[in-house]
Amino acid sequence: MKALVYNGSRDVSVDEVPDARLERPTDVLVRITTTNICGSDLHMYEGRTELEPGKILGHENLGVVTEAGSGVERIAVGDRVCLPFNIACGFCRNCESGMPSYCLTANPDPEMAGAAYGFVGMGPYSGGQAEYLRVPFADYNCLRLPEDAEDKEDDYVMVADVFPTGWHATRLAGLRPGESCVVYGAGPVGLMAAYSALLQGASQVMVVDRHPDRLRLVEEMGAIPVDDSKGDPVEQVHNLTEGRRADCGCECVGYHAHDHLGTEHPEMTMNKLVESVKFTGGIGVVGAFLPSDPGASDEMAQNGRIPFEMGTFWFQGQRIGTGQAPVKVYNRQLRDLIHHDRAKPSFIVSHDLPLEDAPDAYRHFDKREDGWTKVVLKP
Ligand code: NAD
Ligand code: ZN
Repeated sequence: MKALVYNGSRDVSVDEVPDARLERPTDVLVRITTTNICGSDLHMYEGRTELEPGKILGHENLGVVTEAGSGVERIAVGDRVCLPFNIACGFCRNCESGMPSYCLTANPDPEMAGAAYGFVGMGPYSGGQAEYLRVPFADYNCLRLPEDAEDKEDDYVMVADVFPTGWHATRLAGLRPGESCVVYGAGPVGLMAAYSALLQGASQVMVVDRHPDRLRLVEEMGAIPVDDSKGDPVEQVHNLTEGRRADCGCECVGYHAHDHLGTEHPEMTMNKLVESVKFTGGIGVVGAFLPSDPGASDEMAQNGRIPFEMGTFWFQGQRIGTGQAPVKVYNRQLRDLIHHDRAKPSFIVSHDLPLEDAPDAYRHFDKREDGWTKVVLKP
């Protein structure tokens, strides 16, 4: 089969690789019809991680089941399914307590929790930027899609990651209807966090970034763009809220945060959030802060250490929630919002491309070039 393979820093290619196949009775095989490139793929693409060459990338996957193991009961050949980027068993202590993103079974490393397709440190699983994908614990990990799925694949595929991840950011932040929310980052995740806040009845949603194309999408969905190349975002948020600050905030950038001139400041969004959110407000951090970053320029970033203003944060009595989103916790409900035309997350899609164009798409998306917001691949 054809698949997008990681060869080394900023070097990926579409190659002929051995076919994905069932390995356990609880697996299904899925013919991938839609698969996305994610900001999370870029950490690996840029060579910032220790991903081994030869790995197939792709954790935002949707397709049709072509084969089911003898132990699979709920899912049948022919089902169109969306696959949460987390691979989980459904029965370990963490899955049972509602955190399948920290599954203790799916990651074979006893020191680790959590598994994903096509990811460094998240188990041996191949990604779905390929013609076929093996799905472990299929009864738990497949979300069956309704009849309108074929026409709405670009919406439903967002349920694999960025839509629930954005939604999770607002839940970690503790957003309540009628409250205001500030989001740092208008990439696909930040856009989905803002969209989720609006869907949940936020009164005022402000999104900080500097890319005109992404800020345009912020405005189009009914949120307020905050262009930090035009002035300190903290000051802009204070002005927009008449000095009250936002009730809560979402971090959707991660450790590769930089100023608008391009200099990296991994601590920047965290410290600006603390100052943009009211005393006692909640902050949801879904942007990735990785414990090791061999590609980072300084030792601090390599250890995932950042100069966080703990004193200000503590003094203001704020709360913080972090981590990989438990997609499964939200994905059925988000699927149903799409099915009933209450949500249309495909508004972030800028490119629908064949798998063959993936290497070129990675280059453009990695540079956050104007107009390259979200790439959807059709193997
Ligand atoms: P992206 O890189 O496309 O978007 C990041 C955006 O942040 C860019 O538009 C960039 O201009 C902006 N930005 C950079 N510095 C900024 C600053 N100082 N202030 C405001 N904006 C700034 O990536 P994405 O796909 O949207 O993903 C965002 C983050 O979320 C990544 O770190 C990704 O790994 C992570 N992620 C986490 C989960 C999870 O489960 N927690 C899931 C998916 C993605
Ligand atoms: Zn993703």
